[in-house]
Amino acid sequence: MSTIATYELLDGKVASKALREKLALEVAVVTARRGRAPHLAAVLVGDDGASKTYVDAKVLACESVGYRSSLIRLPETITEEDLIARIHGLNQDPSLDGFIVQLPLPAHIDPDRVTMAIDPEKDVDGFHPENIGRMVLGLPTFLPATPSGICELFRHFNIETAGKHCVVVGRSNIVGTPMAVLMSRNAYPGNCTVTIAHSRTKDLAAITRQADILIPAIGKPEFVTGDLVKEGAVVVDVGIHRIPDASRKRGFRLVGDVKFDEVAPKCSWISPVPGGVGPMTIASLLLNTLKAAQR
Ligand code: NDP
Repeated sequence: MSTIATYELLDGKVASKALREKLALEVAVVTARRGRAPHLAAVLVGDDGASKTYVDAKVLACESVGYRSSLIRLPETITEEDLIARIHGLNQDPSLDGFIVQLPLPAHIDPDRVTMAIDPEKDVDGFHPENIGRMVLGLPTFLPATPSGICELFRHFNIETAGKHCVVVGRSNIVGTPMAVLMSRNAYPGNCTVTIAHSRTKDLAAITRQADILIPAIGKPEFVTGDLVKEGAVVVDVGIHRIPDASRKRGFRLVGDVKFDEVAPKCSWISPVPGGVGPMTIASLLLNTLKAAQR
C-alpha cells in the first residue's frame, strides 16, 4: 500500500517571486524620486565555488528588481588590513546604498573584525552588532537576511506561530540566534515559546519531537531524520550542502539539514532544499537594500 503524503511545501521560489514583484513597484518609486536606482555591492574574497554561486544569485536578483549591483572580487591572499581598508572605502562611497561581504572568509581573516568595520547604515546583511542590538530591542533595523527570509516565508503561507513551541537547532550569530529572537518577539511571525538547541544539547530528539515549528540550522547534511520530528510539525530547513553525485551533470546535488523524504510525510508544512530558505534569504537582502535606499 502506498503512503499518500499530506504535507504542503513552503515554496521559497513562489514566496520570493511574490516579494520581488512587490519590491519592484517600490523600487520604481524610489528610483524616480532619487534619480538613481538602489545600489548593492557584494564583496567576494577568494574562489570558493559555493560562495561564488551565492553571490552570483544575489547579483542576478538585484537586476530582476531594477537595482544596480556591483561585484567586487578580491584575491584569497588579501590581508585583513587591506580588506578592512576596502570596506572603509565602500562605507564612504555615496553611490552605494548597501553592501555585503560574503562569508565564509579565508581562515587568516577575522570575520568579526570585518563585520564591525561595516557602517551599520550600509549593513544590509544585518550582521553588525548595532543592528543585532536594535533587532533584539525591536527597533527599526536591517534584520539578518536568513531569519528575516524565514519570517517572510511564514507570512506568505500564513503559517500560524502564536503560542507554538518553536525549536531552533543551531545558535550561530547569523542564523540560529537571531531566528530564536524573532520567533519569540511579540509580533507576527513570533509569539512562540522558543527553545534553542545546539551541539551540547542532551537528548536532542526529545526536544525536537516537542516542536510545532522546527528550524534546523545545523550545517550537517540530512541530520534531521523522521524520528526527530513530531507529526504535523512545520519544518524549515536552513541547511544547504553539496553532495557528490556522479549521476548529475554538475557532479553534485543539493541537500539540506533535513532528510526530506523521511521527514516530509510527517509534516504539515516543510521547506525544500533547494528552493526553500535560499531564495528567501536573497529576497530579504533586496528588502534591506530598498530600506537603505529609502532612508
Ligand atoms: P554554524 O556552523 O555557524 O552553526 C551550526 C550550529 O549547529 C551551531 O550552533 C552548532 O552548535 C549546531 N550543531 C552542530 N552540530 C550539532 C548537533 N549534532 N546537534 C545539535 N546542534 C548542532 O552554521 P550556520 O548557522 O552558519 O549555518 C547552518 C546551515 O545553514 C549551514 O548548512 C549553512 O550552509 C546553511 N545556511 C543557509 C543559508 C541559506 O540562505 N539557505 C544562509 C546561511 C546558512 P554549537 O554552537 O554548539 O557548535
